[in-house]
Amino acid sequence: MSDQIKAPKWRLDSDLRETDFETLAVRGGHYRTAEAEHGEPIFTTSSFVFESAAQAAARFGGDEEGNIYSRFTNPTVRVFEERIAALEGGERAVATSSGMAAILSLGLGLLEQGDHVLCSYSVFGSTVSLLEKYFTRAGITTSFVDPTDLEAWRQGMRPNTKLLFLETPSNPLAEVADIRAIADVAHAGGAWLAVDNCFCTPALQRPLALGADIVVHSATKFLDGQGRCVGGVVVGPDALMEEVYGFVRTGGTCLSPFNAWVFFKGLETLKLRMDAQSRSAHALAEWMQEQGGISRVYYAGLASHPQHELAKTQQSAFGAVLAFEVEGGQAAAWRFIDATRMVSITGNLGDTRTTITHPATTTHGRLSPEARAEAGIGDNLIRLSVGLEAQADIQQDLARGLQAL
Ligand SMILES: *Cc1c(COP(=O)(O)O)cnc(C)c1O
Repeated sequence: MSDQIKAPKWRLDSDLRETDFETLAVRGGHYRTAEAEHGEPIFTTSSFVFESAAQAAARFGGDEEGNIYSRFTNPTVRVFEERIAALEGGERAVATSSGMAAILSLGLGLLEQGDHVLCSYSVFGSTVSLLEKYFTRAGITTSFVDPTDLEAWRQGMRPNTKLLFLETPSNPLAEVADIRAIADVAHAGGAWLAVDNCFCTPALQRPLALGADIVVHSATKFLDGQGRCVGGVVVGPDALMEEVYGFVRTGGTCLSPFNAWVFFKGLETLKLRMDAQSRSAHALAEWMQEQGGISRVYYAGLASHPQHELAKTQQSAFGAVLAFEVEGGQAAAWRFIDATRMVSITGNLGDTRTTITHPATTTHGRLSPEARAEAGIGDNLIRLSVGLEAQADIQQDLARGLQAL
């Protein structure tokens, strides 16, 4: 099967584009066609059937738009792509099999040998490994900068810098990067800015409206929101997404239709969940910083947070993830975690259920001790992703942890 075929152009309904986030979240990508009136089918098919040999030839030749094979396009995946593109305010989205597949597809779709990536050092651990180990093999080099230091971004630019990449707020220390200012640095150097918008989602932050060129997501987290599936997506201008799509189609980093269905149903409740989970997280962060045995709380919603004012200008709320340091070392942190009875001990986040994590020995356990220290991940650090349980119940459970310190 040829991989040289042009992608069909799936267009958003121009009337829907103009409407509110809440409407797009439940109706984006969903058309009032005869089939759609009967529900939102999951097209569990590897390939599609044509009416005639001539139609098959027209589809393969790109003269007729339509589905051919589910590695290329699938109608269920398309609904997810259109809906998340509308919510992020981007021209087009390309869905991928995971968040890491989104970053891989972005890199290999847009970059080539000799290009340089300037990346925040506070990004997801696998993102660092992907860039340092595998992109380097393809002749794409990366250097890392402090996401909050604008001068470091400026100084880090090289003639061959093609992509700037950051997460904000970062995981798990909630460092906030200035999207608008860093987009200006990128554009002055002829580069693109890509933002991993996993922690805020478009419900709280829309990087494209702030000047970023590309948004990537691990849909596994808040977009699904219920810890069911692994997936990802890249959103941006049509011309760039055509290249990313080209890689996904050829490299096979495509999303399964079942997972796409889970994700676009997840988007329908995204804003309600993000608002409610952020409210609880904010209240718990304020409460936590008053408790004995806690030496520091990391949450951009706290007035004491160094980028609190900046966060207020680019986020509508501060998100569901907070982190805190307990007095003592790893043993104290583990005692805290093991004393809880309700919250889930897991590396995942973005679930309706509150999750608790010891980053130094799990999510960031593969970093060298020096790299962990440089990233500010102490042995006494605990990360909390606040879910939809009653805030009082979460607080009571955390109080059990405090008592064990
Ligand atoms: C989880 C995560 C990823 C990777 O996503 P997967 O779906 O696990 O591949 C990338 N970026 C951030 C910020 C994440 O939290």
